[in-house]
Amino acid sequence: MLSYEQARQAVIDEVSKKKGPRATAPVHIWDAVGYVLAQEIKAEREYPPFDRATRDGYAVRALDAYTGATLKCAGEIKAGDNATTPLGRWTCVQIMTGAGVPPGADAVVMVEHTARKGDNVNFDRTAQSGQNIVPKGSEAQRGQVVLAPGTRIGHGEIALAAQVGATEPLCAVKPRVAILSTGDEVVLVEQKPGPFQIRNSNSVSLAAQTRAAGGEPVLLGNARDRADELRSKIERGLKEDILVMSGGVSAGKYDLVESVLKSMGAEILFDAVAIRPGKPAVFARCKDKFVFGLPGNPVSTMVTFELLVRPAIDLLNGAEARPLPLLRATLAAPIKEKPGLTHFVPAHIEWQGFDAQVSPIEWRGSGDVAALARSNCFLIIPADREELPVGESVPVLLRKDIA
Ligand code: AMP
Ligand code: MG
Repeated sequence: MLSYEQARQAVIDEVSKKKGPRATAPVHIWDAVGYVLAQEIKAEREYPPFDRATRDGYAVRALDAYTGATLKCAGEIKAGDNATTPLGRWTCVQIMTGAGVPPGADAVVMVEHTARKGDNVNFDRTAQSGQNIVPKGSEAQRGQVVLAPGTRIGHGEIALAAQVGATEPLCAVKPRVAILSTGDEVVLVEQKPGPFQIRNSNSVSLAAQTRAAGGEPVLLGNARDRADELRSKIERGLKEDILVMSGGVSAGKYDLVESVLKSMGAEILFDAVAIRPGKPAVFARCKDKFVFGLPGNPVSTMVTFELLVRPAIDLLNGAEARPLPLLRATLAAPIKEKPGLTHFVPAHIEWQGFDAQVSPIEWRGSGDVAALARSNCFLIIPADREELPVGESVPVLLRKDIA
């Protein structure tokens, strides 16, 4: 059985094989966060576009502004003013943060190191050439690529695109992810379930996870545990880039997902991963599309999506698969699990300064969504460990949605 790292790698390898051009579309800059860039973005001029003062103070010739020197103030330059009049010897000019430094000046002395009387400015220390100035073109040269294709657009990237005037960057069209739940017991979330029925929470969480991962959810509802119905809904799902199903992958008599997929000619790449929750997870290639059969218990569904589906969405967006948000924390309460599988236990992580402490949350297993909602991470118990003592440094998978 594959470890979760191996299963994840198998997904990455398989999805990376997909060749051919990806669909792209211009996206308005106000909406572009969460997309992956599909073009080069270049600086359309030099950055900064002029020698920029980084402090409020006086622009000087460093040679003239030594400790005790007094210079005549020849005027003022605010941010946005033209800074074209050269600075004469033995003069200075008052300058504000963000303003252009005039020709001839090679330093800006902070206002805190000066004393002004009328037009005379006295300096209490010697200026250093280059001080408090960012030279023109030192952040980016004109024509330089500042954002490469495959870059994920976050706040910083969007600011840079805005700075260089790229108001409609060409982005990857988000991969469409068909979401199909399975099970005779499942009813619409808007519906009142019968005494032994349950609401379809998986489609809701899968759609949310899909959006957070950079995919476009396509909701296909629920298929009852009947081969014909499953087959026709899978058929529909295969029109999208990825099909994610929940339920129907365990060993029960009515767990039909894998057999129906096989009957449709799917190549099953794996049908078990050595994790709990989430062991019976299926990954297949069918009619050139990627299919995930995730176990139906809600915590299993969520964990397996994070481990296995997310990298597929990254790759189909033309980006690299983002690494899992793993870190280490000190265990605050002892924990015991059967060895053999890697356990992902809902847990709560807390920071005191740089030090993190993690405590497992008491839970009733992979159907316990209430426990999950009290967590902000999963504590990972390696497959070869049975008992972890208090104080041990343990791996943790952050729940990126809330932590
Ligand atoms: P399965 O993997 O089909 O055996 O499903 C395991 C359990 O997960 C079921 O007994 C349900 O309690 C739960 N489950 C299945 N599908 C859903 C769903 N769409 N939403 C919420 N819970 C589900
Ligand atoms: Mg089922």
